Amino acid sequence: MLDTVTGAQTETGSSSVGPARMHGACPICAGAALKHLWQVNGYSIARCQNCSLVFVENIVTPEELNAHYSAWDTSYADDNTDCLTYYYEILRGLIESRYPQRGKILDVGCSAGQFLEVMKGWDCHGNEISPPFATIAQQRFGDSIVTGLFEDYPLQEEYFDVITLQDVFDHLRDPIAVLNKCNSMLKPGGLIVIKVHNISCLYAKVMGSGFYAVMPPTHLFYYDKGTLELALGKTGFQMVDSRFIAHLLRLRIIFYRLASGSRQSLFFRISRWLEGRWLGEAKIKKNLHDIITVMAVKNPA
Ligand SMILES: [Zn+2]
Repeated sequence: MLDTVTGAQTETGSSSVGPARMHGACPICAGAALKHLWQVNGYSIARCQNCSLVFVENIVTPEELNAHYSAWDTSYADDNTDCLTYYYEILRGLIESRYPQRGKILDVGCSAGQFLEVMKGWDCHGNEISPPFATIAQQRFGDSIVTGLFEDYPLQEEYFDVITLQDVFDHLRDPIAVLNKCNSMLKPGGLIVIKVHNISCLYAKVMGSGFYAVMPPTHLFYYDKGTLELALGKTGFQMVDSRFIAHLLRLRIIFYRLASGSRQSLFFRISRWLEGRWLGEAKIKKNLHDIITVMAVKNPA
């Protein structure tokens, strides 16, 4: 599977020089008809004409991503934690409606362990690529937090009841390989939960490349319900739930996002003006269907 990715990775060995290599076909359905959509941050973004997956055509190397995340500004994530808890509580309810008996849960991309903190009564495990965040999570959960890439996470077959990937699945270079690994690690009937941005919401359609989630190389894939269901179906899962859960956001962060990183933008100046004012700190319940949460069950062998 995924010969377009793995084949190219083999070819781009350390001796390889020259222009950036590109996916020749869709990484999910292998369709070869790709329509170029936008050029953003020096990366080309295309839509598969067959399954409608939107993705970064450039094959980004692990070294490139490491360099990108090393320069990552972590202050924003910290800033938003208490708003994220609102979402975590809803997600906990959804998971426990299927797993009232609780069990073993793995949060891939667990950050500082904020979601696991909400999952009291569960046997909590986490994986986090960023050492500063992983260290905080380890202070809470000890050895059950593993620092590093999910590819390097020790494979434990049929070990977990639930695996969650929140705000991480669209960052991954090889989503199919990750889903296959999750499938191996889940018990039969185990649950996978994926939360990502929804490229097919009206807001994304109106904004085009200005949609705040379009930010390569941070986000390499841009999913919707259909492409998530396709990827899950190809890797031994059956999608059982798909929904748009509201998020709480501070008003100043809404304007910050609308600015899409442009300091010249009026939105950016409004967000700066709101900083430290009670109005800017006011929490707004937002649901533009721009975030999709899907749940899928591992198929019986
Ligand atoms: Zn496709």
